[in-house]
Amino acid sequence: MARYHIETYGCTSNRGESRQIERRLRDAGHHRVEGAEEADVAILNTCTVVEKTERNMLRRAEELGDETADLIVTGCMALAQGEEFRDADVDADVIHWDEVPEAVTNGECPTTTPDAEPILDGVIGILPIARGCMSDCSYCITKKATGKIDSPPVEENVEKARALVHAGAKELRITGQDTGVYGWDDGERKLHELLDRICDIEGDFRVRVGMANPKGVHGIREELAEVFAENEKLYNFIHAPVQSGSDDVLGDMRRQHQVSEYVEIVETFDEYLDYWTLSTDFIVGFPTEEEEDHAQSMALLRETRPEKINVTRFSKRPGTDAADMKGLGGQVKKDRSKAMTDLKMDVVAEAYDDMVGETHEVLVVEEGTGDSVKCYDEAYRQVIVQNADDHGVEVGDFVDVEITGHSTVYAFGEPV
Ligand code: SF4
Repeated sequence: MARYHIETYGCTSNRGESRQIERRLRDAGHHRVEGAEEADVAILNTCTVVEKTERNMLRRAEELGDETADLIVTGCMALAQGEEFRDADVDADVIHWDEVPEAVTNGECPTTTPDAEPILDGVIGILPIARGCMSDCSYCITKKATGKIDSPPVEENVEKARALVHAGAKELRITGQDTGVYGWDDGERKLHELLDRICDIEGDFRVRVGMANPKGVHGIREELAEVFAENEKLYNFIHAPVQSGSDDVLGDMRRQHQVSEYVEIVETFDEYLDYWTLSTDFIVGFPTEEEEDHAQSMALLRETRPEKINVTRFSKRPGTDAADMKGLGGQVKKDRSKAMTDLKMDVVAEAYDDMVGETHEVLVVEEGTGDSVKCYDEAYRQVIVQNADDHGVEVGDFVDVEITGHSTVYAFGEPV
């Protein structure tokens, strides 16, 4: 639950994207503030029409980077010329509009929909499977709102999933603060069982599993990887936020898992799946993070090479134990965050480079800008198909595409 400041430049369509971002941030319990100095995170939704606009965007990004703890740059310039922010040494997370709501955290788990009930949004069905978590992370304020894990029975969630599919959902998004501990309040973790049952529902749809902390996943990693390998309906995607490559820092964060457990999860999924996406998060500049701890985080990122990475510069949340710890200097946090963001860009670009020339089956989930559509492939990597009308491609379709190139945050595909 963060305080955010948002600035939007450019056309009506870009303003529409900002409205959607704000709606999702509001639903997740974040608060908008007017001044960037009061915010935990600033969001710059950019435009790139002429060179002068580009220069203004870069200048504004530099200013906002100095004024707030965390800066997210999104919008047309971020997507088309994301490298320019990096070249200008701007310390920012440069991401797609869709990724902004998830990135506005302090490393905390996402809050589910306000009433934790399913929602159908176009062809996307959002299914919160439980509320709460099993942890007590020292930097987290979300826990105060959501409490301990409370898991409804598998059958109840399967029925909700079935209702969403019958209502037209083509993509089910399984959400919760920590999906990996679903069922643990009842004595055993049941995420794998639930996913298997949901995949048995008749229909042509895909399932995306939301954030699952490494501690919960580690105990069921074999079962889970097996369910992924056996069910084509599941996107081969897991989001397991490791947060640090140092066990000492993880201990101070009270994260419950160790680095080795996270690595074992990655190894297990590598054994079962040829093509999958590892998504993870790092908090940079936690109060007790020494230079050596930061080096270990960088090494872990290089070693496990996640295809999707959220980097968050630590900021204090009122009332949390981490807020009472003596913090690091702003410049130290900035330098480490910049170093990790640069590495992240290289790692992610490599994953996209590998896709070019391959053919993937994608599900079209939403209209994009102009005549484009947003799609996700088997491993939940975003693919944009342009001139959708000419190709006769519509939302809800499954299409085989050849990957022809990529930007910093998504691939481009051409129907084959
Ligand atoms: S797992 Fe940690 S960060 Fe997530 S909601 Fe629970 S206490 Fe907060």
